[in-house]
Amino acid sequence: MESPAGGLRNTSVVVLTIDTSEVYIIVSLSSRTDTQVIYIDPTTGSLHHDQKLGHDVFDSQEEALNHITNGSKFVIKNTIRAKAILGYTVLGSFGLLLLATKLTASIPYLPGGGCVYTIIESKWIKISLQNPQPQGKGEVKNIQELTELEIDGKHYFCESRDITRPFPSRVSVKAPDDEFVWNGWLSVGFKRIGLDQHCVILLQGFVEYRTFGSLGQQDGIVALIARRSRLHPGTRYLARGLNSCYSTGNEIECEQLVWVPKRDGQSVPFNTYIWRRGTIPIWWGAELKMTSAEAVIYVSDRDPYKGSGKYYQRLTKRYDARNMGINGNQNKNNFVPIVCVNLLRNGEGKSESILVQHFEESLNHIRSTGQLPNTRLHLINYDWHTSIRFKGEQQTIEGLWYHLKSPTISIGISEGHYLHSRHNINESNDDVVVYNDDIIGFFRLHVHQNGVIRYNCADSLDRTNAASYFGGLQVFTEQCRRLGIFLDADVALKQTGSPARTRSGTDRAWKRFDMTFEEFKRSTILSPVCQLADLFLIAGDIHATIYTGSKAMHSHILSIFSEEAAKVKQFSVAQNVRITLQRRYNNAVLDSYRQKQLEMFLGIRLFKHLPSVSIQPLHVLSRRSGCLLKPIASIDASSDDGDSLLSFKQKDLIWISQQAADIIQLFIYLGEPCHVCQLLLTISHGADDSTYPSTVDVRTGRDLDELRLVLEGACIARCANGTNMVIPISGPVSDDDMAFTKNKASKPSQKTKLPFLYDFEGREGELDFLTRVVVLTFYPSESTTSPVTIGEVEILGITLPWREIFASEGPGSRLWERVNNVKDSHPYVVSLTNDVLPPGKSDTTTTTTGMDLLSGDDIISGTASQPMTEISLIDHGYIEDKISQTNAIQTKDKDKDSKVEVEAAVAGTGAQQYISCFRMLTASHGSKLGFIDSMKLEIERLRLNLSATERDKALSSIGVDPSTINPNALIEESYIPSLCKAANALAVLGQASREDKITSAIGLDPIDDEIDIDFWNINRIGESCCSESCQVHIGTSTLTSSSQSIYICSACQRKVCKVCCAGKGAVLVLQNQNRVGGTNVNERCLTMDGVICKLCCHDSVLDALILDYLRVLISERRGSHAETATYKALAHVVGRNYIAGKKESSDKNGAGKILEQLLDGEESLAEFPFGSFLHSIESASGSAPPLSLLAPLNTGLRQSYWRGPPTISSTEFIIVIGSLSDVSGVILLVSPCGYSMSDSPIVQIWASSKIHKEERSCVGKWDVKSHLTSSPELCGPEESNKDGQGQTPRHIKFDFRNPVRCRMIWIKLSIQKVGSNSVSFENDFNLLSFDESPASGPGRRASIAGTSESLPSLHAKRILVVGFPVKADVRRSSSQRSEHANSIKNWLEKPPMLNRYKVPVESEKLIENDLVLDISPSSPTAAGFRLDGFNAIKPRLTHSPSKSESLVTGFEHRFISPPVLNIQVLTLKGLSEEMMVIAEYRIPEVKIGTALYFDFPKVMSSRRVWFRLVGDVAGFADDPEDGGDAGRALAVGLSLLNRIKLYYYAHPADLGRWASLSGI
Ligand SMILES: [Zn+2]
Ligand SMILES: [Zn+2]
Repeated sequence: MESPAGGLRNTSVVVLTIDTSEVYIIVSLSSRTDTQVIYIDPTTGSLHHDQKLGHDVFDSQEEALNHITNGSKFVIKNTIRAKAILGYTVLGSFGLLLLATKLTASIPYLPGGGCVYTIIESKWIKISLQNPQPQGKGEVKNIQELTELEIDGKHYFCESRDITRPFPSRVSVKAPDDEFVWNGWLSVGFKRIGLDQHCVILLQGFVEYRTFGSLGQQDGIVALIARRSRLHPGTRYLARGLNSCYSTGNEIECEQLVWVPKRDGQSVPFNTYIWRRGTIPIWWGAELKMTSAEAVIYVSDRDPYKGSGKYYQRLTKRYDARNMGINGNQNKNNFVPIVCVNLLRNGEGKSESILVQHFEESLNHIRSTGQLPNTRLHLINYDWHTSIRFKGEQQTIEGLWYHLKSPTISIGISEGHYLHSRHNINESNDDVVVYNDDIIGFFRLHVHQNGVIRYNCADSLDRTNAASYFGGLQVFTEQCRRLGIFLDADVALKQTGSPARTRSGTDRAWKRFDMTFEEFKRSTILSPVCQLADLFLIAGDIHATIYTGSKAMHSHILSIFSEEAAKVKQFSVAQNVRITLQRRYNNAVLDSYRQKQLEMFLGIRLFKHLPSVSIQPLHVLSRRSGCLLKPIASIDASSDDGDSLLSFKQKDLIWISQQAADIIQLFIYLGEPCHVCQLLLTISHGADDSTYPSTVDVRTGRDLDELRLVLEGACIARCANGTNMVIPISGPVSDDDMAFTKNKASKPSQKTKLPFLYDFEGREGELDFLTRVVVLTFYPSESTTSPVTIGEVEILGITLPWREIFASEGPGSRLWERVNNVKDSHPYVVSLTNDVLPPGKSDTTTTTTGMDLLSGDDIISGTASQPMTEISLIDHGYIEDKISQTNAIQTKDKDKDSKVEVEAAVAGTGAQQYISCFRMLTASHGSKLGFIDSMKLEIERLRLNLSATERDKALSSIGVDPSTINPNALIEESYIPSLCKAANALAVLGQASREDKITSAIGLDPIDDEIDIDFWNINRIGESCCSESCQVHIGTSTLTSSSQSIYICSACQRKVCKVCCAGKGAVLVLQNQNRVGGTNVNERCLTMDGVICKLCCHDSVLDALILDYLRVLISERRGSHAETATYKALAHVVGRNYIAGKKESSDKNGAGKILEQLLDGEESLAEFPFGSFLHSIESASGSAPPLSLLAPLNTGLRQSYWRGPPTISSTEFIIVIGSLSDVSGVILLVSPCGYSMSDSPIVQIWASSKIHKEERSCVGKWDVKSHLTSSPELCGPEESNKDGQGQTPRHIKFDFRNPVRCRMIWIKLSIQKVGSNSVSFENDFNLLSFDESPASGPGRRASIAGTSESLPSLHAKRILVVGFPVKADVRRSSSQRSEHANSIKNWLEKPPMLNRYKVPVESEKLIENDLVLDISPSSPTAAGFRLDGFNAIKPRLTHSPSKSESLVTGFEHRFISPPVLNIQVLTLKGLSEEMMVIAEYRIPEVKIGTALYFDFPKVMSSRRVWFRLVGDVAGFADDPEDGGDAGRALAVGLSLLNRIKLYYYAHPADLGRWASLSGI
């Protein structure tokens, strides 16, 4: 492969799989000199790259390889070398990496540099992940099909130039035009880790060049670049005409670039011509009928031109020369011509003629609306086939030229030079100058193409390719002429002199347009013409193959100038027949398959093809830099302190406790703060599976002082060694809620209905993105007395994108914006000032607000408690309760810092309003609510932002049983399946429509189509029709409606008021239902313009809308919780004032330089988010948050700093550093207020690796006071010089005598307190602390501390721990063959005393969804049951998209509020008929079909057992492949039938031969 000039090397990619099955991607880009290592997490598949030199950035590939393998070739299991990365994605239990392994340089050197490569061989690497997420068979099949998509020969890229825009692009390669990027979705993972360039920008289509010359003349180069648009991807019979993204099927932009290569240093002249091809931009389609040879063409009967205008608008934007900065000279009237060359048959009776008529009409329609004032649309109808038939090929070509002449000349071409140096860049004339960071020199454009010619036939394949060749050929000869390459046959033959002679009158511009075919042929040197034809031939085949799966037909005409033209023609007739047959086969059989592949490749409609796949996988936080805080003792003395339990490298490990049947407690410190979502266990045991613990408790917290129980006694079923088991975890439930729920549960109640519609109970856990410590307590089963075994433990969670947040780039900067909005919606929060203010600028509001002084933290907590919709019930005058001025902020947060008064002041308002709603409903409908009323009440509850528990409390307070308003129980059971099905269909339609809206915005100005009626249009309680002009008039009421707007129903044409309209979703549903047979135009034509009245809409659709709306509100509530949690997390790190003031990205470079100076070659080891504190740290009121001490230097207000409470004379910081390191010292950045003799601390530092205080070792004790005498600049307030930036801040470094290898640094700051000791008051002490006159001192504490201001307190700006990280080598030392190890092995291999045997069952049947087993009296009594892992998936999409959905953070609610299933076991109570629950098990997530064994608490004596599934069943669904659309209430995959077997324990010897037959 040729090396592109400019780049020093070719890009090289090595994918390394090592013996632990971990995969590393090692990338050395041509544009860089270093090498990056990307690690693929073996559990979740997420990509990791920390941008740290020596850790995942290296000088060379070899160095990187060495680092990973430790220099040992033996650990390498597999190596794949590639030339480029094309994409990566995680699809459920697979990571999929797409690599280009062979390339060809299709244009080795563009003018100005840059090589365009076509991929000739690619490879998908499929990585199996440890994550046991159940995945449906259909999904697995679709993933397989995705990897079968044809990449080779049809895709290309350029690493160093933007080639998604016409040449030369003024935009950097980093900002491609989305319309032509095919791997945008597949490259997201690399963007997320800050390595955008490591995945190339992939285009689909054709690119190729030819060098040509004419006798004795300078050589030229012609390149043909054809970019396929991705806005309407798809195959022939499925993607024709317009789609709802305003693009057409088979839409391609073609570019013909001609230039004259020059020696180095000379400017390169070039010119370029652009045209477009695609199917007709109206709504039409074609249907294959088995009875007829030709497909039947039809045009949508509804709104066939919808979006046509938008289509031309997009073209206008792209081809408007003014957008290139070209001034008026050549574009006199400022119009952009778009000339459509339509090559369809137009004769009477021809099926295509209907399209011709509509094409014309569509243009008239657009002209009449005046929506494109700057565009001039022309249509040239030129019936290609008919012309050839009656006039022959030559005259057909002449005729085409005749039509093309004037539009081609007026649209023109672009021409200019590339100059190698920017020396003369400003020499201004009318030229346009184009340059960007990717190129060394610049382009000077003299002329620019304005407007575009667009070719089409029916499929835009064969005729289009031929006609565009003959059009392009005319331009080509002109392009050559302008570059001084003369193609005149006679001139070239006669003269061989200098080019100057040709500038004569005979060399007219565009002269060949006036020639006949024969004249053209005779007067032109044909070899370049044939070269061009060759390019068009290949291009035509490529486009045809992509669109139809077969080569182009009727291509022989392209060879008309060549010698063998006649021969080609004969051959071609036979070939055409073959291709026709092949196309037919492809269309009938393969089109939908290929359509699906393309959609998956582009990341669209994934909710259909891969319904359970996550868009953002979770992260494993316990690995890499996570660690165990306390050692745990193993029976194996050679084992480490249990650290290996967190390491993937030893996933086969079986760890054994020291004592028999001991409780095991793991204190896990996470590598990064996160919200914990899952506990992933690798079940490990020997031959006896009972040694693995039977239950686990989970506690989480920000530090060791804040641990809260989030999961108690979660059952761990027995299963095979090595099974991966996920235990979903939701956040802690507040104690208050917990108590209420428990209290409620203790009351006897009848069987509750399964929540098929939605989770009515909806317990809500809190979210905390700063969770850092997870404590797991494992309990062995009661039956066992042997030691306990455990295996690898992983904690999975959601992290905030801290790197981007601190750098304010990408999602990070959007997050700041978003978070600021969270805060802005709460007016009273804004006035709070919690950071220390600079001297003299003290804010009095801090003291007058009087509520946050103690905390300075998290007072907004319950932010989300604001009603979400702006319409409040008050507007309707229904409710007299006044909402307090505080805007109904309700703090239900239980943070210990929150002030109770605030809660008391505003609590209850929501609940009271809710009760009013309830009363109003029951007043008009009687005490028993119906299904719809109960739904509306729930909607009102969510609009008031009450949690389910708050609702239950409110209802209980007025003596109402909440279960009486549970819509799940009030609905007709037989109706549930169809309702669920309708709601799910609505969700899918809504999501598709949303995707299309996003795609359609590409290349267009954003459009705002907000109207009165939203997707659901659900009326509020009491709201009903009252408009006199409404002809629909549903319900009667005397109340005034909020809206007086009147609409027209598009179905019945009646006038209808807002209340009587159905939501927009109903329009979607109706359009979808109208689809008949293969007529899928209507399905795609999702016009959302019209409205429809409720009378024209089936009740089931209205019910589906209301259910969907309820689900949307639940999701919005969760979304707003996530945003509040994000805000709180940020505020806890950088201080709330900083967020408020945050406008643009902070000075990264400046901070980076300062850090470099401070570190002096060493690394900062404890910077947040990698470093953190192990214990809570007390702060003074108004102090910056303690975590700010570890935050990056450029974050937080410059003047803010941490300050301890004045009552405290010492504080101990236990800092856990990012990874095991050799620490050489600690740097303390002095607060802006500076030190004085009274508050300069004594600093004591220890180091340790675990949390036991006894094990820490002291590394030194320093008295800052002694520093002050030698460094007086540390005293007193910081001089407020204007910039302050770039200067090294005041700091003290505490150097250790020798570097200490440790994981924790303990720093104790202490000061001597006044009165506690006889401190001699020195002068400066007095001055700074007691003198409050503004003239004499900064009065630094005057504003904040109130009465305690005179007391000195601890304070600091930052703490940096410096040194070098140690490369963690957790590889197990070669297993010792000691006697001890052997005895362990023997113990593990010892079979269990008792085996499980199947209890024969007399009958097994489902009653409702419960499984009832009758056991014959002669059978042994059951000791437990086996449950096979469910065959159901958790779909990502559960409702239609809401407007306010948090796109920025992209959290998936099913991780934050995971649906959990439990299985209850019931028996008869004694002799009575009453059933009683004897056990309930929480079901872990495992791969489909995994056998799980659950022991009963005691042996079952009953002869009849019920198994009942309880929990959030609505969160599960069937794989579409297994009939997921069947519309059953309960997913088939959750059925208990044939999924449960009872077993008993027995000694194998007692059963003899029978044992082997009934083992279970
Ligand atoms: Zn009405
Ligand atoms: Zn109607």
